[in-house]
Amino acid sequence: MNRNKREKEYYSIDVGDSTFTVLKRYQNLRPIGSGAQGIVCSAYDHVLERNVAIKKLSRPFQNQTHAKRAYRELVLMKCVNHKNIIGLLHVFTPQKTLEEFQDMYLVMELMDANLCQVIQMELDHERLSYLLYQTLCGIKHLHAAGIIHRDLKPSNIVVKSDCTLKILDFGLARTAATGLLMTPYVVTRYYRAPEVILGMGYQANVDIWAVGCIMAEMVRHKILFPGRDYIDQWNKVIEQLGTPSQEFMLKLNQSVRTYVENRPRYAGYSFEKLFPDVLFPADSDHNKLKASQARDLLSKMLVIDASKRISVDEALQHPYINVWFDPAEVEAPPPAISDKQLDEREHTVDEWKELIYQEVMDWEERTKNGVVRGQPASLGAAVSNDSHESSSNAVSSMSTDTDSSQETSAGPLRCCR
Ligand code: AMP
Repeated sequence: MNRNKREKEYYSIDVGDSTFTVLKRYQNLRPIGSGAQGIVCSAYDHVLERNVAIKKLSRPFQNQTHAKRAYRELVLMKCVNHKNIIGLLHVFTPQKTLEEFQDMYLVMELMDANLCQVIQMELDHERLSYLLYQTLCGIKHLHAAGIIHRDLKPSNIVVKSDCTLKILDFGLARTAATGLLMTPYVVTRYYRAPEVILGMGYQANVDIWAVGCIMAEMVRHKILFPGRDYIDQWNKVIEQLGTPSQEFMLKLNQSVRTYVENRPRYAGYSFEKLFPDVLFPADSDHNKLKASQARDLLSKMLVIDASKRISVDEALQHPYINVWFDPAEVEAPPPAISDKQLDEREHTVDEWKELIYQEVMDWEERTKNGVVRGQPASLGAAVSNDSHESSSNAVSSMSTDTDSSQETSAGPLRCCR
């Protein structure tokens, strides 16, 4: 495309401390959140005639961590197509050549709020169980594609007011280093499983731990294990759930085991004490039954030893959840991931720049030829908050990488089934 024509297609607008340079089809930009990678805006897309979310990634190739995450996210978003995983509608860069390449913009379906806001609400069992069911469906789909998330948290799960839910990101790469002995840097770790905190091997049900923490937070309206760092977080885990068995200790590597065995010993509390009846709506016999089912599910998810923790399939079959079971959602065919070495890649900044740029160009090429990824089904006119005015509350303060920095407002959650 000729340079002049391309330039005419874009315009720039200041959003908070950042400048968004976007295609003219995207109008009425308003900040709705921010994360480790950058700012997210809502906008109206005059081509698709709908509201969208646009995330700006500035110099996504700037270092190994940013580049790997941006590239991985882009490749996976292009492959995955499930109603409980955020869908990519468009990706573009305003720069014209690889040499000039600086910023990447991801255009996604627009949702109304992240789970941090929902956690503040008093949810009934219907909504709570439906949100958990959808989270589990999304996780199961990722697992089917060989993606184990390991870093699910409320800020990376978004909902609409009709109670539909989508997971926003793809978690940690297999090769990502985590663990008790690592230098702390600012990320939210409250939801990370013991096997991640303690640097052990992990299996798919590592993600169930996060679902348990999120469910507990929805019930308590407080973070379950609010550690200042991994060490403090481990203390919070054992204070409530009790010191794990000797059998578990034997699975730890020597240095971590020495640390864990030398902590004070805690008996922990029963789940009736941790999640008493007053936390649940229990005004009718039906609600009393649901409350005991909810507590039972929590007790099966929040198990320190992963070999004794419920699996995703078992959780989907649990009586609290299986009322929503739909094989089309639970067993959707897994996506084929185009880049088989996705998690192993190590590159220089220049190589990452080229790889990411190529992925953006590949999208342009594919969409030019009319090959567009399937449109997610759930964004229809029936959804109440699809007017741009109501879904685009400006963010008052936008710091990076804390859960308090995402401030779209949740309207009352309706349950759609
Ligand atoms: P991220 O940079 O992907 O971690 O997103 C940061 C925050 O922006 C999230 O916690 C949400 O509050 C908001 N956000 C991101 N993507 C969307 C979206 N597609 N719809 C609505 N809000 C979003």
